[in-house]
Formats: sequence, structure tokens, C-alpha cells
Amino acid sequence: MTQRTDVVVIGGGQAGLAAGYHLRRLGIEYVVLDAQPTPGGAWQHMWDSLRLFSPAAYSSLPGRLMPLQEGQPYPDAGHVAAYLANYEKRYHLPVRHGVQVQVVRDEGRLLRVETDTGIWRARTVISATGTWTRPFLPAVEGRREFTGRQLHTVHYAGPAEFAGRRVIVVGGGNSGAQIAADLTGHAEVTWVTRRPPRYLADDVDGRVLFDAATARRRALDEGRPDTGGVASLGDIVPVPPVRAARDAGLLTARPMFTALTPTGPQWADGTRQDADAIIWCTGFRSALAHLASLRLRGTRGHVATAGTRAADDPRLHFLGYGDWTGPASATLIGVGRTAREAAREIALLIR
Ligand code: FAD
Repeated sequence: MTQRTDVVVIGGGQAGLAAGYHLRRLGIEYVVLDAQPTPGGAWQHMWDSLRLFSPAAYSSLPGRLMPLQEGQPYPDAGHVAAYLANYEKRYHLPVRHGVQVQVVRDEGRLLRVETDTGIWRARTVISATGTWTRPFLPAVEGRREFTGRQLHTVHYAGPAEFAGRRVIVVGGGNSGAQIAADLTGHAEVTWVTRRPPRYLADDVDGRVLFDAATARRRALDEGRPDTGGVASLGDIVPVPPVRAARDAGLLTARPMFTALTPTGPQWADGTRQDADAIIWCTGFRSALAHLASLRLRGTRGHVATAGTRAADDPRLHFLGYGDWTGPASATLIGVGRTAREAAREIALLIR
């Protein structure tokens, strides 16, 4: 079955919903196709103890404030998923769940979006597929020889299954710090980071991050020196559980090991340590495989963009993923602005 619309939004997480909100306001005909059977994007899969790095009021999509979560100044992932489900319903966003986009092809005047349930033809496409489906693992000597369990952030469900185990947590970002903190008191944790952990100031939250990302974009756009953006402030937002573990002296990091042996890491001084599990909190890449046939220019897994638009094709926009689609576009507080810009550009193109 082939259907026709003005815009196909691929991905129904926060970025896809923010796009839907603005397209709807402009009266543009569109559909959102989302691979998940239920609303909430990646938030439905994150671990129970994860805490947002901003209070609810600073984690909101356009039009509707995220409600407070009782007893939690920094909401958990379940709260975000529920908020997104409610957002989708409240604005009657036309999200088709359980639809996997396989490939987008250039058909000349239109883009052809092939899914596992049928084909759409659209004048424009917004890709908002996130990064959760593309976990990244670094190349480490001996990684395949290690006989213990290895998992990535995306497979971490909580500390219970690691009770009494010797666990190595790799990664100096928010996931690494939060998971290491979560495991303390349950497992024998060794936290490993490439460089000493860099905490942001205790009073930093999403607003500050959004401002830093915006100031950087503005500086770059105006040809001024790079301000460093969020990275210049640090890598880890000290949300309450991380702060508590850090202040109790339970979060001390070791420099990265040089190799893995069948039984565990080998350190720079040649000593070895036995471990039962390694949790790789080593980040993500953008999920862009569905666009391969368009052969867009790009570097390091990013597509070349002007704002949210593909530099090579004005019919294609990107939301979320990282700062390459706009300042703080990959955050709850930031994606609204980039979604609005994308919707406006699309309106100009198709009207
Ligand atoms: P996603 O939530 O991943 O949604 C993308 C959707 O697209 C998914 O439903 C996916 O199934 C679907 N999809 C993918 N490929 C296809 C396809 N081919 N066809 C159809 N559908 C497809 N941000 C904050 O603002 N505050 C925080 O505190 C915060 N904490 C974070 C903690 C962690 C551990 C991580 C990983 C990220 C965090 N982020 C945070 C960043 C960001 O807000 C989240 O990653 C968020 O999920 C990004 O939303 P998204 O809509 O871009 O992508």
C-alpha cells in the first residue's frame, strides 16, 4: 500500500513529537512513523534509577510543561516516558507506532519512505531516529577474549543482577557516573574513565547547558572563536544520587585499562584484575542507516547540515542526535526550538 503526505517524520521520541507539534501548528499534513510499539522513545528502555539532569520544569517540550514527579526533583525515565505518551495524546499527534522505516529513496520530486508495513511518498522528511539503537563500543585489545559478561548502557536494567559481583564500569560521562553510583552498595565496582572525571558545578542544570550550547552555536555562526559549549563546563551533571556517592567517597575513577584478558582488565603497570562483568557506558552513534541510499555528505557519522536541513537536500531535516542538528537539539529542553525552525523551513519550501 502506498500513501502520500507532505512530511514523514521518522522517529516518535521527543524529537519526533516536537516536530509534530510545530508542523501541526502550521497546518502542515504529516505523519510520524515510530518503530516502538508504545510511546516514549528511548526513555522506555532506560534503567530505573536514572535521573534527568534538569528539574521537570526545564525538561519540557513546546506547549506543555512536564509535571512535577512527586518526591523527585529530578524526574526518572518512567516519568519522561509517561509525559511523552501524554503529550502525544493531548495534541492528537498522528504517530504510527510499530512501523520501522527501512529506507528512504530519492524519487525526483518526492521522497519514497519504505517501511515494514508499506510505502509513503512525501515532499519532505524529518529524521528523528535518535541514537539509542546504535550503542558504541570502543576498540580495546582483547575485548573479545574476556569471558565474563559484557553489556552496554542500553542493556543495563539496575543493580540487582550484579549483587556481590565484581563489575567494571567504563565511561566518564553521565551514564557511567550514574550507573557506577547505582551499583555502589550492591556490587564491587571499579569505575574507569579515559581522563579524570569532570563534574559540572553542583548547581548546574539543563538551563545552563542549553545556554552554553546556544552561546556556542551563536559564536560559530558569527565566526567568533569556539566557546567550547557544554563540554567546556564538564562531563558529568552531579544529579543527587551521583553527588551522594561522590561525596561519600564511593566514586573514585581509575584511568582506562590497556587491554582485556579472559578474566578482566590489565592496567598500564601490567597488573591484572579479575572481573565478572564490564558495563560499557561509552556512548552512541546516530541511527542513520535508513538514509544510506541518499548518499549524503558527512563526517564522523554526522550528516552535513545547515541548521536542521541536510546541506545536500532541502527536503530532508534532522532533529535530535547531537549539536550538529542545532544547539541542545538532543535534549528535552532544546529540541523544541530546532523543531520549530525545521517546521518553518518546511512550510516555506512546500507552500
Ligand atoms: P529517541 O528517544 O531515541 O527516539 C527515537 C525514536 O525513533 C525511537 O522511538 C526509535 O525506536 C525510533 N526509530 C529509530 N529508528 C527508526 C526507524 N528506522 N524507523 C522508525 N522509527 C525509528 N536529555 C535531557 O534533556 N535530559 C536528560 O537528563 C538526559 N539524560 C539522558 C540519559 C541517557 C542515558 C541518554 C542516553 C540520553 C539522555 N538525554 C537526556 C538525551 C536525550 O534527551 C535522549 O537521548 C532522548 O531519548 C533523545 O530523544 P530522540 O527523540 O532524539 O531519540
